[in-house]
Amino acid sequence: MENNQLQLFSESGIYQLTSNAFFIDPVRILNRSYTRFRVSPSTYYSRFFDSSNSKQVPKASEDSRKRKRKQKKKLQSLNEREQSADRRHQEVKPLLLKAHKTLLEATDLLKVLRNLRNDGCAVGECKELSEESSELSFMELGSVWQAPLYEIALNYHQDDKTFHNGGSTLVQSIEQRVTPVFSNLVANEGSCDIEAELFNHKFIIPKRSCFYMSDLRQIENLISADSDCGFNLIVIDPPWENGSAHQKLRYPTLPNRYFLSLPVKQLCHTYGALVALWVTNREKLRGFVENDLFPKWGVKYAASFYWLKVKANGMMTGELDLFHHRPYECLLLGYCDGKETDSDNITRLNPIPDNRVFVSVPGDYSRKPPLGELLLDYVPGSRPARCIELFAREMIPGWTSWGNEPLHFQDSRYFVSK
Ligand code: SAM
Repeated sequence: MENNQLQLFSESGIYQLTSNAFFIDPVRILNRSYTRFRVSPSTYYSRFFDSSNSKQVPKASEDSRKRKRKQKKKLQSLNEREQSADRRHQEVKPLLLKAHKTLLEATDLLKVLRNLRNDGCAVGECKELSEESSELSFMELGSVWQAPLYEIALNYHQDDKTFHNGGSTLVQSIEQRVTPVFSNLVANEGSCDIEAELFNHKFIIPKRSCFYMSDLRQIENLISADSDCGFNLIVIDPPWENGSAHQKLRYPTLPNRYFLSLPVKQLCHTYGALVALWVTNREKLRGFVENDLFPKWGVKYAASFYWLKVKANGMMTGELDLFHHRPYECLLLGYCDGKETDSDNITRLNPIPDNRVFVSVPGDYSRKPPLGELLLDYVPGSRPARCIELFAREMIPGWTSWGNEPLHFQDSRYFVSK
């Protein structure tokens, strides 16, 4: 049984732990639809793979015992909001513990997990992210007056066969298309990944995908006059403000009121959309989403999914009960009606499961696992579904990505050639 599951996992990146919990490898999931390149596991998993401790199960340290005692004291003096957060946490805790226990019992999977970072690359071949290959700051580039003049070059490879003396040779030619990179829908409509060039950096653009790189003020440009061209799946990971001043953030955040003006309803397809919103564990934020944001967007709540974060040794990335640093995040799911939402269509859809748990090793800071594809069974409208990610930092084959840095994780340093 476990062997069969491992076989499925190596093809799909998904391992079913319980009826409602799955271990996932984002790298395998993303690589299912790349053609000429693949996401490099060693650069995806830039954290939580400390080889010195990945083999042993860590013991509770004196520090963690102290933290637990402090936490116990704190629980006795919670204010109303904290009590409500704790109730929410106590409800989800058994699901997370069950998923985690099943993971720790799947010994063959744990062996694979420890090696995810070196998956598919020979010794010494694994790519490391070096400091000197600095990243482009799209936010800086996009904020200067020259931004509308900056262009990206898309390189389409063409394989042509030339025939001579009865034989044939494969000749590769490159057709280059140049187009503005900011506030412009840049698309690779082809059926292969392509390379793109911008300021001497190379980016990998997956097949049939597009991006629109702009500030929030230009998002209206994505609304189509014809709502048949709207989206059936809208994944949103907003730059929420974080209460903690110590939290080091790699991108600018926005006050909650800015998200009220996101044109979610206008982005919806005629037949409606499934909206998936990443939220942090702050109770104030949960209240804002339930009472203000979803009603303003016209989204009716349907279910919650949880992402449980583990390290290479299978242990959670933090203590489950630690108040401000929970090792899990929540994806809230809801439906938004389109102009002609066909209620029969919605009722014919597979009912969306509640409290589904996805376990994975996190990639870079704030990088979310690619759960979008796992939502497709619950998306209204015809197929293929039209999907968009808002505040995206990467591109997904077949999707539109919008944000002020949708090319961030498309930098060729995160990829290897197939
Ligand atoms: N889902 C992403 C991932 O998995 O990597 C992380 C998204 S991160 C939470 C939020 C993103 O919103 C960051 O890339 C940030 O730069 C972007 N952002 C912040 N302010 C913005 C604005 N005014 N307009 C557009 N994007 C903005």
